[in-house]
Amino acid sequence: PPESGVDNTYVHTLDRQYVFHSWAQQGSLDPMVIAGAEGCRVWDYLGRSYLDFSSQLVNTNIGHQHPKVVSAIQAQAASLCTIAPAHANLARGEAAKRIVTKAPAGFSKVFFTNAGADANENAIRMARLYTGRSKILSGYRSYHGNTGSAIAATGDWRRVPNEYASGHVHFFNPYLYRSEFWARNEEEECERALQHLRRVIECEGANAVAAILLETIPGTAGVLLPPKEYLQGVRKLADEFGIVLILDEVMAGFGRTGRWFAFEHYDMAPDLIVFAKGVNSGYVPAGGVIISEPISRYFDDHFFVGGLTYSGHPLAMAAIVATLDAMEAEGVVENADAMGNGPLAAGLQQLTERYAIIGDWRGVGVFHALELVSDPVYKTPLPGAEVLKLKQQLMENGLLVFTVENRIHVVPPCIVTAAEVEEGLAILDRVLKNYTASR
Ligand code: PLP
Repeated sequence: PPESGVDNTYVHTLDRQYVFHSWAQQGSLDPMVIAGAEGCRVWDYLGRSYLDFSSQLVNTNIGHQHPKVVSAIQAQAASLCTIAPAHANLARGEAAKRIVTKAPAGFSKVFFTNAGADANENAIRMARLYTGRSKILSGYRSYHGNTGSAIAATGDWRRVPNEYASGHVHFFNPYLYRSEFWARNEEEECERALQHLRRVIECEGANAVAAILLETIPGTAGVLLPPKEYLQGVRKLADEFGIVLILDEVMAGFGRTGRWFAFEHYDMAPDLIVFAKGVNSGYVPAGGVIISEPISRYFDDHFFVGGLTYSGHPLAMAAIVATLDAMEAEGVVENADAMGNGPLAAGLQQLTERYAIIGDWRGVGVFHALELVSDPVYKTPLPGAEVLKLKQQLMENGLLVFTVENRIHVVPPCIVTAAEVEEGLAILDRVLKNYTASR
């Protein structure tokens, strides 16, 4: 322990007495204590270590405690900790330049926020100001954040108790395993999902729709890779009706899919790109919107009515610069591609073939979900309590994963090694084998 008297019990007790947690009924919590972390591992005060295949909240793309990022934050803290957003600052300019360089041609500026939700909030604001329209169309199977418009744009259940913002309309995004369109294959799913979206636009009044907001690959909703042609089809609909297309790359961006941006897999580009998490792996909170040329130019002579005290905070910006430079120099995105689409995908496919409880496996790069079912024919979702039991057993065996509803999300850092992939897969195999045998 770093300080005498500090142990798991002390930290747990402090937390339970004073800390109010996100998305939780406070009385029944039993948070895991984490004392430290490095690379793909975290550990507690007893020295119990875990392979972190959750990347925390799918954000530590560069792994924990990367020395170059840590020292860049230290150096920035020693020279300038904070500065108002109106001033020009070296770290902010360098961060914006690097982000624009990673984006496709036609993107010119970056607006920085504190995280993903307020990045979506501001992308929505930009689209409304730019088009003079108000409605925002987004997928039911999505999560966009927990501020006013971001939670109203969210499609999953967390929207409902938070519906304060207006002008949000939802549609069904593609999900072949549980098709809303009775589709039998990817082609039908794509065609019918696009026709459904066209009808939603027409019924809502195309002239009232400011933006279509989509996670390029819905993440928390289950790593729902869209059919190859779907996003191109959405792009065409947006162009046909003069609608701004916003892609939320908060979870999928900055290496997670084995590319800098997930939409690079789909040969298309949006008008606004929303990012956070992987841009600096969350070492200091940051997010933002990458703005395409026409929208950026529009605001040259139109006032942008938005801003945040910590927009482009120097510590976050220094972390972005160091993260992106290190990812580039160390081939981190290439590693996510090689490990994720190589041994990790092969191993998850084998597990899917071996265990009937895995009804569906979807993924790309280091972004995978195993959908668990109690009956593979009827695709009955495995009850949440059983998924938690499995999660607990995985932890007892030293593996941290991200679980949502009836799914295990296998989302290691982009720096994961072949040995770590093998170790993680072996734990999954062992736990699934024991679980299946005991049912
Ligand atoms: N958008 C997506 C796709 C996300 O996955 C998340 C968070 O998980 C958010 C937005 C919200 O980001 P934040 O929690 O940083 O506000």
